[in-house]
Amino acid sequence: MKTEILKLLRSTDGYVSGQQISEQLGVSRAAVWKTIRRLQDEGYQVEAVRNKGYHIVETPDVMTKEELDSLMKTRWAGRNILYYETTDSTNLRIRQAGDEGAPHGTLAVADRQTAGRGRRGRTWESPAGNSIYMSVLLRPDIAPNKASMLTIVMALSVAEGIGQWIPMIQIKWPNDIIVNGKKLVGILTEMSAQVDYINHVTVGVGINVNMTEFPEEIADTATSLRLECGHTGKRAPLIAAVMERLEENYEIFLKTEDLSGLMDRYSALLVNRDRDVRIIGEKETYQARAVGIDHTGELLVRREDGSMEKIYAGEVSVRGVYGYV
Ligand code: ATP
Repeated sequence: MKTEILKLLRSTDGYVSGQQISEQLGVSRAAVWKTIRRLQDEGYQVEAVRNKGYHIVETPDVMTKEELDSLMKTRWAGRNILYYETTDSTNLRIRQAGDEGAPHGTLAVADRQTAGRGRRGRTWESPAGNSIYMSVLLRPDIAPNKASMLTIVMALSVAEGIGQWIPMIQIKWPNDIIVNGKKLVGILTEMSAQVDYINHVTVGVGINVNMTEFPEEIADTATSLRLECGHTGKRAPLIAAVMERLEENYEIFLKTEDLSGLMDRYSALLVNRDRDVRIIGEKETYQARAVGIDHTGELLVRREDGSMEKIYAGEVSVRGVYGYV
């Protein structure tokens, strides 16, 4: 009922009467009042005015299931929500939910992670209270070798979703979102598959929202929305915006099972587009000019001798010639 009442309160800029709510939801006035009291206890500022009704003045920065449910405008992305105050890693929670049969689009969100992870065993700093740690369960009916494209789908969706709050958003191929040359978001895609089919895919996203300090090792390369915008932001609307973009972009991806419908938008946001990058592979490190991505999500680069090369994300790290981007 909390979710429904939040939705009703948000459906107007004015007041909603207790009578209206009780009629629409088929519950007693007393039950409505009790739920409003519970919302107020959770930090929602709900004004109650005699003869007018209730009006929501301020929403706390919470990512509870009810708050997220009341903001979600999607059909499947983020419709089934698992919320954790603290968990080891939302990717692990979604992998488990996937194994247990959770539906496509299930979203795990945590306020804090004790074992946040990056690619290749790296860690993701995940303190409480001011960032988003979330993972989505996808059940695509595609070949396992196409799953890495979902990282690109998510990166574009996050960039477009949070781009509504912050302009100047860019993507560092394949999986990081960058603002002013620093990392705002990391994405980690993991797959559970048989030889020829996918059981499920977990796409995890860490977004630095209101962090103002980072550990020394990443102080020069990490940033947050708050540091870039100069004010704090609410996390739940950001999540809802990303889910909306994900739903649309994922469906575009599925039509062709490749990135042909998304690669132009993604390439336009590439931080290194038309710039020299250092490609750090297992066997060699070399410099080349980044051109964009192709329909499979590989990075196209032009080597100094003019030849074009495709870089597969699993193998390498890409760095700017003079620094991180
Ligand atoms: P590569 O450039 O090789 O892809 P990466 O730096 O993108 O590597 P990821 O796996 O995406 O690696 O992210 C993990 C790295 O991100 C960590 O090694 C650390 O340097 C950095 N990092 C960890 N936590 C945060 C955070 N909260 N915000 C920004 N950067 C972070």
